[in-house]
Amino acid sequence: MVKILEELKGAGKIAISGHVRPDGDCIGSCMGLYLYLKKALPDTRTDVYLEKPADVFSCIEGIEEIKTDCSEDIRYDVFIAVDTVSDRLGAAETYFKTAKKTINIDHHISNADGCGQINYVDPTASSSSELVYELMEKELVDVSVAKAIYIGMIHDTGVFQYSNTSPKTLRTAAELVGYGFDFSRLIDETFYEKSYVQNQILGRALLESILFMDGRCIVSAIDRKTMDFYNAKPGDLEGIVSQLRVTKGVECAIFMYQTGLQEYKVSLRSNGRVDVAKIASYFGGGGHVRAAGCTLQGTYYDCINNLSLHIEKQLGA
Ligand code: AMP
Ligand code: MN
Ligand code: MN
Repeated sequence: MVKILEELKGAGKIAISGHVRPDGDCIGSCMGLYLYLKKALPDTRTDVYLEKPADVFSCIEGIEEIKTDCSEDIRYDVFIAVDTVSDRLGAAETYFKTAKKTINIDHHISNADGCGQINYVDPTASSSSELVYELMEKELVDVSVAKAIYIGMIHDTGVFQYSNTSPKTLRTAAELVGYGFDFSRLIDETFYEKSYVQNQILGRALLESILFMDGRCIVSAIDRKTMDFYNAKPGDLEGIVSQLRVTKGVECAIFMYQTGLQEYKVSLRSNGRVDVAKIASYFGGGGHVRAAGCTLQGTYYDCINNLSLHIEKQLGA
């Protein structure tokens, strides 16, 4: 296991960042690590870079300290990339490239080798948040750190429901809850609560979903026009693919939203028989065996055709 504080010894400037369009695990793990390092290394400059998190994450202490602007000319002693490979860091990749030392903490199977000089990658971990917590000296953990980590874990496990939840995940969660925060409220406010627009667009996506391959696949897409109509941001579409996945009989769910004239961001979910990380990686994306994503060029029909060839191959249709 990486001894994180030892790796940071002597560093004057540390940067932390995660992937573009940060999800709950990305935000929770980066913020948990940030709050921890600020406490453990009070004389060190520690910065956290992320795209602006959704409002529901405002309950995380220090969230307003996140830097979104990467134009400062600064060379970090250590750059810690969390929940991502370096090429999904977005604007912060420039600091990764110039840093004297790079550390990568991740749980994506598509990043099994790690992208840092020092890597702590474990694809069996539920979340990067769980891994970040493992690396912490527990006497330095406080309630604000615990809360950030817990939020990350509930998001990547669907509140300890997905198959990536292990006994260790639950033991970690039990420890975190022991720090004393209102976990029930956190779960509601950061995971289940949806805005009116989010619910409406979810309804649209479900209504327009199509079953194919004898009901073993389901697909739905939201085009740009619809997103504009609802004034929906990509973050408002989170959770749609999870709802598609639980359709009875479905092995593989596809949700896509339009990001360009002929470009779609694709989310894939599997109930176990299809390795969607393999499919997403083939198309230049990545993820986990049961949850992965990529960006595809082409029309809606091109995307479905391309994806279904790979799904069919795995299902042996
Ligand atoms: P999403 O469908 O965007 O919720 O992503 C599902 C999982 O796949 C998450 O763990 C993402 O971090 C990962 N993922 C999504 N898109 C990509 C990509 N282009 N490259 C690598 N991993 C991705
Ligand atoms: Mn993530
Ligand atoms: Mn994650």
